Amino acid sequence: MAGHAVPVVARTREELADARARLGGDVAVVMTMGALHDGHATLIRTARRGAEHVIVTIFLNPLQFGPREDLSRYPRTFDADMEICRAEGVDLVFAPTPDVVYPDGDPGVLVSAGPLGNVLEGQARPGHFDGVLTVVGKLMHLTRADSAYYGQKDAQQLLLIRRMVRDLDFPVDVVSVPTVREPDGLAMSSRNTYLTASDREVALCLSRALRAGADAAAEGPSAVRRAARAVLVAEPLALIDYLVLVHPTTLEDVPEWYRGEALLAVAGRVGTTRLIDNMPIKVGPGGGALEVFSDVHAEPPAAS
Ligand code: AMP
Repeated sequence: MAGHAVPVVARTREELADARARLGGDVAVVMTMGALHDGHATLIRTARRGAEHVIVTIFLNPLQFGPREDLSRYPRTFDADMEICRAEGVDLVFAPTPDVVYPDGDPGVLVSAGPLGNVLEGQARPGHFDGVLTVVGKLMHLTRADSAYYGQKDAQQLLLIRRMVRDLDFPVDVVSVPTVREPDGLAMSSRNTYLTASDREVALCLSRALRAGADAAAEGPSAVRRAARAVLVAEPLALIDYLVLVHPTTLEDVPEWYRGEALLAVAGRVGTTRLIDNMPIKVGPGGGALEVFSDVHAEPPAAS
């Protein structure tokens, strides 16, 4: 991995436009908030296989953080991030400050995530997904990327980005990448650095619950929910916000008769840290964990 050049760093819109103009051919973007880990590196690697050039954006978007959330303590590790970008062969890193992205202050016009933005993570974090979609839309325009890569780890975000691109006709191909986990099953996250050693042990109940749910998938939805809940109730130090088994595109609870692909998702607080995790699963005969949803679920359900 030593052979790659240091990526060009753009801090302003002008620098980005200049550097972008020099990238010919297909361009992919990987959007991040920095504090890069192997999950981000996997997104970059996947993007490199799918496009000639890769742009990584590093931007802590104030618009998607609530007033009592962790914006001020979010880890900032720019030098280490650059080393990962170099090692992974990234061409261009766009790392703007908020005044570059929002030159007039908070934007008056936002992208609305609609009803899907008010459930699950959106219920816990009001306005979060409007802030996410607004910056994702801006970064798609500013980078003029042909494709954009997102992690299944943030399943609701991925779904909403797909909906935005489709509903608002963005000319961008959205690609999802399976969740990258630590060897013990913990989903990689920049927020894992907040966890103490004992928090980290507690946090394992999230991925263990998902795994237990997936293992019960052949028996139907209530068996999945029951198996996952049993793991969580055995760990009282994890304060669970929600555990749901929902349809991958409507995010509505699947009924007991449901057979097919579903999203098993969990969120909760461990110590001072809010963690999320999920697993795409197939419910019914031969069911179990899936890496990602099949293409049919990249589209909204047909109107009935
Ligand atoms: P973040 O920096 O947390 O905003 O994440 C930037 C991108 O990396 C998003 O598309 C995330 O879904 C993705 N990502 C974060 N953690 C993981 C992970 N463990 N596995 C796969 N993708 C991830």
